[in-house]
Amino acid sequence: MNRPVWDDRDWRPLPKLTGTQRADVCVVGLGAAGLAAMEELTALGVTAVGLEAYQVGAGASGRNGGLLAAGLADPFNDTVARFGEAAAATFHRLTVQEIERQAEEMPAIVGRTGSLRIAADESEKAACAKHLAALRYCGLAAEPYAGPEGEGVLLPDDGIVQPLHRVRAVAQRLRQREARLYEDSPVRRIVPGSVVTDQGVVPCDTVIVAVDGRLETIFPELAGRVRTARLQMLATAPAPEVNFPRPVSYRHGYEYWQQLPDRSIALGGFRDQALAKEWTAEDFPSERIQGRLDRFLREHLKVRAPVTHRWAASVGYTPDGLPILEEVRARTWAAGGYNGTGNVLGVLGARAAARLACGVPSDWAEALAAARTHVRRSCSV
Ligand SMILES: Cc1cc2nc3c(=O)[nH]c(=O)nc-3n(C[C@H](O)[C@H](O)[C@H](O)COP(=O)(O)OP(=O)(O)OC[C@H]3O[C@@H](n4cnc5c(N)ncnc54)[C@H](O)[C@@H]3O)c2cc1C
Repeated sequence: MNRPVWDDRDWRPLPKLTGTQRADVCVVGLGAAGLAAMEELTALGVTAVGLEAYQVGAGASGRNGGLLAAGLADPFNDTVARFGEAAAATFHRLTVQEIERQAEEMPAIVGRTGSLRIAADESEKAACAKHLAALRYCGLAAEPYAGPEGEGVLLPDDGIVQPLHRVRAVAQRLRQREARLYEDSPVRRIVPGSVVTDQGVVPCDTVIVAVDGRLETIFPELAGRVRTARLQMLATAPAPEVNFPRPVSYRHGYEYWQQLPDRSIALGGFRDQALAKEWTAEDFPSERIQGRLDRFLREHLKVRAPVTHRWAASVGYTPDGLPILEEVRARTWAAGGYNGTGNVLGVLGARAAARLACGVPSDWAEALAAARTHVRRSCSV
């Protein structure tokens, strides 16, 4: 219980931090985001230490649905309505570029399959039509879809990833370049000029906290701007009785599934069926949500194969739909709050944090700033 389907190989643990390791920057959290920050800092020639409380990918980065989605969490038309066409198009372009980059860099782990958004009812069909029209109006790839999964939109720019293999591959690559990464080293205190763990300390100029779920427990000043939620999934034994060539998101993205290369199914969703209980920092599966997933698996997806895995993890949601990327305290940056879709957004956000922390401009940060300016202007009209 609480083991993701992705965890199919042994991992040679990284050392624990003991003693003092000086660096320009200390990165807290070694999920996809923290590792991306480490890569960016290395590329910028800055010395860095990365600290992970448990293992690389122990959080949502190694326990998610494996969809690489273009754009922000909300559909493109809603992003345009909220943040303006220019910012929405930039978010889309930069996320597509990042999916392409990952697919080129890790072809065995990342696939460019596209994805389906399937409508659960007539009103969502209308929403899909608006989604499709907005993408096409901006010259972005999208096609109407009707097939065995239902009716909706085909999003050809999206992809899939084996999320735990991805973070482990990035960590290994960093280790080969002698990057200083430490596991089993929970950060207990961040004070000006140093980051403290149980057995070690990292004196540093700058800290980047790359933690999606529970960000507001590390930075209480972010309470109200980011909120931790639990997302849950299950996976089955091979299910040759069904065929899903592409990942699917359903009912406004609340449910999502994909069929893995061995034909097993990974399915997540139903957070909204017990919303009050799912706003929690607990990260183990609950009977209620797992029961809903079981029913959907049997009745809607028609899968007969037995369930082999059940798991959960924490993510951060923001009321305005924009990820958090900011210098929360002097020389201390926070990146998180990806609204359930951080596989691509987390990498872009943490890389941007690394650049800004080093005084280097970032297209991603500029797009976020433009979106916030658009919101402020719209509110003052
Ligand atoms: C069930 C589920 C399904 C999802 N499906 C998708 C999907 O299909 N597509 C998508 O794009 N996104 C999906 N997401 C969201 C996505 O997984 C996350 O947004 C993304 O992985 C966040 O990456 P991160 O590196 O910011 O955070 P995390 O992966 O949570 O990494 C943060 C790391 O920080 C560590 N940490 C925390 N506190 C400390 C501390 N004090 N000291 C040291 N280390 C610390 C944690 O142990 C963790 O390893 C899903 C999430 C879940 C839970």
